[in-house]
Amino acid sequence: MAPQDIKNLVRPNLLSLKAYSSARAEFKGRAEVLLDANESPWPTGRNRYPDPSSTELRHALGKLKNFNPDQIVFGNGSDELVDQITRIFCSENDAVHALPPTFGMYKVAAGIAGAEFRAINLSPDFTIPVEELKATWDDKSKILWLCSPNNPSGNAMDPAVLEDLIGSFPGIVVLDEAYIDFVPELSFLNRLDEFPNLIITQTLSKGWGMAGIRCGAAFASPFIIRMLNTIKMPYNINVLTTGVALEALDNKDQMQAKVDTMTSERKRLETELPKLDCVDYIFPSVTNFLLVRFKDSAAVYQYLLDNAIVVRNQAFQPNAANCLRITAGLVEENDRLLVALRNFTTSH
Ligand SMILES: *Cc1c(COP(=O)(O)O)cnc(C)c1O
Repeated sequence: MAPQDIKNLVRPNLLSLKAYSSARAEFKGRAEVLLDANESPWPTGRNRYPDPSSTELRHALGKLKNFNPDQIVFGNGSDELVDQITRIFCSENDAVHALPPTFGMYKVAAGIAGAEFRAINLSPDFTIPVEELKATWDDKSKILWLCSPNNPSGNAMDPAVLEDLIGSFPGIVVLDEAYIDFVPELSFLNRLDEFPNLIITQTLSKGWGMAGIRCGAAFASPFIIRMLNTIKMPYNINVLTTGVALEALDNKDQMQAKVDTMTSERKRLETELPKLDCVDYIFPSVTNFLLVRFKDSAAVYQYLLDNAIVVRNQAFQPNAANCLRITAGLVEENDRLLVALRNFTTSH
């Protein structure tokens, strides 16, 4: 898709919308006395409004990812970005495409925007049925959500397939890289400039271990970034989140050590679970979780709950009958899970 065609995908009323102008954006020059924003004057570290464009955080992330900081925008979790992206391109007469089983927010965001949600299920091995998907594209198609590695299946999609889909979809393709910290070599970030219709989202919630601070990032062309900045609430990334995020990004080694531990624990579960009679199949995963097919997932799910262990039921999802999604926890938590499942096996 040519860069100039992207504009035609945007909801027309947004092209002329002027973003809210915050107090601090309206002057240039030295600021020693700030009497412009009706803030409380005592310097507590949180009495001032945050920088609406998260300049320092963008530069820190840009440096870490070797990516232009002017092509980054942050969301209150990537959840917020999913909603914003949907509302930039979609209203009642538009369609979004996704490949279930996948992240649930794509459908919710489409519902909020009033857009049609067109789902083509992933194949039984959770690869993308390319021709079947392409057959559903038409002039209503505005967004294609691709999640790689995918939640809840845990597999990464074939890069050649992703490239083909990004190159041929007649709208915006969003590649959700929420789990990319577990397989950084598979990221499309360093190829983003090849694809004017591509948005990549990442998050501090998974590998970085900071789901509680709500911080996700979108990477895209300058035009798409401008649209995201136009519709976002000015202070969506607060001062406390910014401080904690900056500190985390400055300690990448700490993140890496935890990602390595989560990965080795996932591998341990991958080795141990198939030894149990109640387990039918483990889907291959490159993330910090496993999709596991049991012989009787409902009984296992309830038994784990009775033992105060909570996993995610996926049995209602397409191609995931009898499946539970299990996150790799602390070593002792995974031990406890394995003990419970062994006890289940001997008692059933
Ligand atoms: C967890 C998850 C997210 C949400 O991330 P937040 O930044 O916490 O909102 C997005 N996409 C996928 C696929 C996820 O699994």
